[in-house]
Amino acid sequence: FRNVRDLQSYLRTERVNNRAVGFVPTMGALHAGHLSLVRQSLDNNQITVASIFVNPTQFNQATDLETYPRTPGKDLELLSLVGCDVVFLPTTDEVYPSGLATTLTLDLAGLDEPMEGAKRPGHFQGMAQVVKRLLDIVQPQHLYMGQKDYQQQLIVRRMIDVLALDVRLVTVPTERAADGLALSSRNQRLSEETRQKATLLFNTLQEAQRQLNTGQAVADIENWATKELTQGVFQPEYFSIVDGLTLQPITGELPELVVACTAVWADDVRLIDNMILIGQLS
Ligand code: AMP
Repeated sequence: FRNVRDLQSYLRTERVNNRAVGFVPTMGALHAGHLSLVRQSLDNNQITVASIFVNPTQFNQATDLETYPRTPGKDLELLSLVGCDVVFLPTTDEVYPSGLATTLTLDLAGLDEPMEGAKRPGHFQGMAQVVKRLLDIVQPQHLYMGQKDYQQQLIVRRMIDVLALDVRLVTVPTERAADGLALSSRNQRLSEETRQKATLLFNTLQEAQRQLNTGQAVADIENWATKELTQGVFQPEYFSIVDGLTLQPITGELPELVVACTAVWADDVRLIDNMILIGQLS
């Protein structure tokens, strides 16, 4: 479906007898990570809707928006192969029609301030805005997002709480290549040589977990990892070990949920990854 009206009228006819709708919002250039979200939705709902929309309001750099990979033909093929029921491919005017107020003012309890929030001003406001708008359109029972974007799923969880939205967020574990690199649409832009070395991110996260388990201090691990990630074409923006619920730095005792999050430049591509070092997502 390309417009809201047609999608909604279709979903109205399908939603009979309490049939559950699962929703997977994406920006396209789909890979196995996206498909694992779709598969989980297919397992737990009668109707699965995936959307493909490169949301301009969450890009803070015009060049990143321009160079963001777009492969709509292949995306539709992949979604059809896994058996996704509905694909929503709206234009920007459908998502943001003139006359409709779509900006959100939310108290995100500081979740949007560190890490990606600090490096990409306005990114999370734009992301929350589009997720809210898409939820209003699709009205799913379940929303599927990836742990790959840890801060993003936490902010959406907070938005759902604050606005008391009638939807349950399911966070799906990160899908990785055989060598550990988290699958990402941006990986396509890595040179062959850099791609081979990009396993550095996963290895560093694993080693950080090992160090934390053997009692090393958080600040020492962060310093070690930042040095480790400064190699050849790799340049870290941050490597932060934080409280997995508040995203605040860890000062005293270790909290129940501890997460390491990192963003690294490789060539001119920005890669992010994270690992839960202690505990698990509820
Ligand atoms: P994107 O198209 O990058 O906006 O991603 C759409 C959804 O797919 C988001 O919820 C991402 O967190 C999720 N996602 C992206 N990459 C992965 C991955 N490697 N494993 C699991 N989920 C992912």
